[in-house]
Amino acid sequence: IVWTREAGWHDAEVVPYGPIPMDPASSVLHYGQEIFEGLKAYRRPDGSIVTFRPEANARRLNESAERLALPHIPESLFTEAIRQLVRIDADWVPGGADQSLYLRPFMIADESFLGVRAAERARFLVIASPAGAYFTGGVKPVSIWLSSDLARAGRGGTGAAKCGGNYASSLLPTRIAAENGCAQVLFTDSATEDTIDELGGMNLFLVRSDGTLLTPRLNGNILDGITRRSLIQLAEDRGLRVEERDITVREWAEGVADGSIVEAFACGTAAVITPIQRLVGDNGLLVDFGDTAPGELTMSLREELTGIQTGIREDRHGWLDAIAPA
Ligand code: PMP
Repeated sequence: IVWTREAGWHDAEVVPYGPIPMDPASSVLHYGQEIFEGLKAYRRPDGSIVTFRPEANARRLNESAERLALPHIPESLFTEAIRQLVRIDADWVPGGADQSLYLRPFMIADESFLGVRAAERARFLVIASPAGAYFTGGVKPVSIWLSSDLARAGRGGTGAAKCGGNYASSLLPTRIAAENGCAQVLFTDSATEDTIDELGGMNLFLVRSDGTLLTPRLNGNILDGITRRSLIQLAEDRGLRVEERDITVREWAEGVADGSIVEAFACGTAAVITPIQRLVGDNGLLVDFGDTAPGELTMSLREELTGIQTGIREDRHGWLDAIAPA
């Protein structure tokens, strides 16, 4: 579907997957004026298909659009595009634990010029791809790498938006993490250095021995994760305290050393919940849960969230959007 300043959104169509025409001077190719979302469609045991909180993705896409000077898209247009594509691709929605159809809605600036300004023409597209588990080998605790020199976002930057540019800056630190045997990179606030922001593609939670959950507050640098939000709700439903605040690497390391922090996990649409075993930095091991990972609360929240998403548990918050059969 295409947007122009004069005509607004128009020309919606569903076409077979394939290359799209692109002018070499298209502004997205030069200035990265692009935003995206990620969500999943699941098959329930009765065969019906649902997506998880698509209106939250629509809202977040529009917040990203604001920051990247792209047009807003009506929520109903967003959710209808998702529904139509999933309905057509219904045979590609696998069933079972850790299985889903991953959906990637995205918006690109698509006006041809070489000066630096916001484009007056944009395109919104959705593509789909069957997805299995994010990390191979089941729910295995992972090591993560603390990026001390390379930042993903800074104050006033685009850290809270889901735009390609944020990922462009996280690719090199992610490669360095992999070279050091780590599954993901952890970014800290570039201004304070020790205050934890998030991982390359996930939000972070710590669990205290009294069951309290700690997670970095939405400080303008990090993504307002839909999995993060959902887990805060599920934890509060259980009567657990959730503290959204600044957390430092030092607080994490000291808490593990004195036994007051007993679990850590990363969360996001792609990886759901992944237990963290170690935090590694330039100077070696910073945190190690050893054989205690994965933690009990980590796994029980994971089980509850995936149970809701795949229709095994009751959807008591009305998070699922049922896709009517074709
Ligand atoms: N932070 C970043 C940088 C991400 O890319 C993602 C994945 N979208 C998340 C957090 C988690 O967000 P969500 O739970 O909405 O997938």
